Amino acid sequence: MTDSNSASLYVVATPIGNLEDLSPRAARLLGEVALVAAEDTRHTARLLRHLGLAVPMLSLHEHNEAARVEQLDARLVAGESIALVSDAGTPLISDPGFVLVRELRARGRRIVPVPGPCALVAALSAAGLPTDRFLFQGFLPAKGAARRGRLEALVAREETLVFYESPHRIRATLADLGATLGERRVVLARELTKTFETFLEGPAAALLARLAEDPDQARGEFVVMVAGAEAQAPGEAAEVEGEALLAALLGEGVGVKQAAAVVARTLGGAKKGWYARAQALKDQASR
Ligand code: SAM
Repeated sequence: MTDSNSASLYVVATPIGNLEDLSPRAARLLGEVALVAAEDTRHTARLLRHLGLAVPMLSLHEHNEAARVEQLDARLVAGESIALVSDAGTPLISDPGFVLVRELRARGRRIVPVPGPCALVAALSAAGLPTDRFLFQGFLPAKGAARRGRLEALVAREETLVFYESPHRIRATLADLGATLGERRVVLARELTKTFETFLEGPAAALLARLAEDPDQARGEFVVMVAGAEAQAPGEAAEVEGEALLAALLGEGVGVKQAAAVVARTLGGAKKGWYARAQALKDQASR
C-alpha cells in the first residue's frame, strides 16, 4: 500500500552521505512506487541496491525535466505512483524537480513531500549562527565579477546567509566573502554526515589561511554560512519619523511589541530599541 489510494508524486529526500539517514517511510515508498524519477539513475541505482529494491527508473534532470512532464503525468493519470529523488538530499533544493512539481500541481495532481536530509538545514542546525531568519542563496555565480556583485547586494541583509559551494570554488568564494563582507563570522560545514565531517569557523580570511595550511580542508562538499549584518542604528531623521509612527500606532491601540516590530520593519533599526521607545511613549501617555 502507498500512503493513500490516489496515485501520487512523492518528493523523497535521500541521504547526503550517511545512508542511515534515509527514513523508513522513504525506504517503504521507494519499494512501493511504480517508477522512480531520478536525477542520475546510476547514482540512485546504488541506493536502491542497498535497499534490496529493483524498481524501474527514469532520468529526470535539468536538461530533460520539461520534456518529461507529459510522460510522468500520463503515468499518474493511469494510477501509478512515482517517487522523485535527486542524487542527495531534498529534490528541488538546488536540484531538479521544480518544473515537474509546478506543472503537476497546476494540473491538480497529488504531490506528497517525504521529508528528510537537506544539507542547508543540517548545516544550520549545528553551526551556532542565528536560525530565526536565514537567507538561502544556493550556489553563488561561478564568475568572479558576478559572484562579488551578488555578495555586494547582500551586504545589508541581517539574516544569516547560507550558500552551497563546491571544492573547486571554495577558496575563491572565501576570498570574495572577505572582500565584500569583511570580518563577519563565517561557518564552513564540510562533508556533513560523512566520515570527514568538519565545522570550521572564523572570518573568511582566517578560513582561507586554514585551507591553505591544510588542503584536505578544501575537499568535499560545503555549506557556507555567514552572520547577517548588525542591525543599523536609525539615523536622526528616522528617529523622529519612528517616534511619530510609534505614537500613531499606539494611539490606534496597537500593542507595544507589535508597534515596535512594524517600525523596525519599516524604518530599520533594532526591534529592541523601538520597543523601549514605544514603552516609554505608552508610560508617558498613561501618566
Ligand atoms: N538537494 C541537496 C540538499 O537537499 O541539500 C543539495 C544538492 S546541491 C546540487 C549539492 C550541494 O549541496 C553541494 O555542492 C554542497 O554545497 C551541498 N551538500 C550536499 N551534501 C553535502 C554534505 N554532505 N555536506 C556539505 N554540503 C553538502
